[in-house]
Amino acid sequence: MIESKFPSVEETRTAPNDRPSPSEPSNMMARYQRQILLPEVGVDGQERLFASRVLIVGAGALGSAAATYLSAAGVGTLGLVDGDTVDPSNLHRQILHDTQDIGAPKTRSGAKRLKALNPDVRIEEHQEFLSTDNIIRLFSAYDLIVNGSDNFPTRYLVNDASVLLRKPLVDAAILKFEGQLAVFRPGMGCYRCLFPSPPPPGTVPDCAEAGILGAVAGVLGSMQAVEALKLLLGIFPCTAQGTFLLYDARSSSWQRMAFQPNPDCVICGDHATITELIDYEDFCGSRLPSAINQPTAIPASEFAVNADQALDLLADPTVIAIDVRSVDEFRCGHIPGTQLCSMEDLPDIARTAANRRILVICASGVRSAYAAETLRSLGCHAWTLQEGTNGWNYAGGPWVSSEPPAI
Ligand SMILES: [Zn+2]
Repeated sequence: MIESKFPSVEETRTAPNDRPSPSEPSNMMARYQRQILLPEVGVDGQERLFASRVLIVGAGALGSAAATYLSAAGVGTLGLVDGDTVDPSNLHRQILHDTQDIGAPKTRSGAKRLKALNPDVRIEEHQEFLSTDNIIRLFSAYDLIVNGSDNFPTRYLVNDASVLLRKPLVDAAILKFEGQLAVFRPGMGCYRCLFPSPPPPGTVPDCAEAGILGAVAGVLGSMQAVEALKLLLGIFPCTAQGTFLLYDARSSSWQRMAFQPNPDCVICGDHATITELIDYEDFCGSRLPSAINQPTAIPASEFAVNADQALDLLADPTVIAIDVRSVDEFRCGHIPGTQLCSMEDLPDIARTAANRRILVICASGVRSAYAAETLRSLGCHAWTLQEGTNGWNYAGGPWVSSEPPAI
């Protein structure tokens, strides 16, 4: 085994020594035999895993796969932090949760699944959204952080807390057919070294807006589990270069990019200026989401209306309501009185409805904001439905659902 000059997970451990330890594994050899067979693991490694504490941020798509494999591998204590409840739209990728869990807290349904998989493992449920108020308390009690969050404010918050507390961080992100994974060990760079600034709000769609192939989340979440197990076991230590992987399911390709810590990084660099947590909503230009079904990535503007204001507009027969989502999205369900319209058709809409008010709708408000702006540039009076159909449904607005085709 190659010795690493960087601190091990145990050396960076700051969790209290008197923390409760999980019960002894019921039958270690029977359950973990194939893993213990690996010389890099062995009985010592298995016991090391059993003494480890890993916190998984988000019991969603990435967290589902990561937590499942970490539980199966016998990581002694797993923390799940998530304040959300299970929604039907989660189930195609968030495999911790069953159909019967809809409406239940994700931490509860996740803990139930993980305990069923491996009763040796202690599951600690943190049914709360991560924030600057609770992150230090939560992170301090764990050896390693697996980040499965899905928004930039939380991603920077997780990074900064990990750097400040010297916690190893296994970070991943997914969208459409792509994923990225990065491993940050204390002293070896951080997310800000790679991405010093977040993208402008609204320029990068999320999975609710752009979609995600569920199995892609499984690939990246499983990779997170692999990297976490390597860190916990202290095997295959990397060089001084950090690990950053890009996955593209369309071409079935992985790209590995080496990166060096940035000496000018504002939090882990030689002259760090960030020495405590900051306002991440302000930094990213958006508010931290209070729930996954309350998308808040799109800032309000004078051309954005909320669900109540949209209802008033829809009640006016002179208003044209157009839905710029895809045909398939529209067929799955839409707001009554709206008509499907592609982006290519916007000039035609502008010509035929020049003197009418137009309400533009999409899934979360990104595409509709762009379309409304396009229409306004063509001389129209156009507004966007803030938070889109996701927010509309969360608010309980009227909805036309299409039944799936019979098989
Ligand atoms: Zn950094």
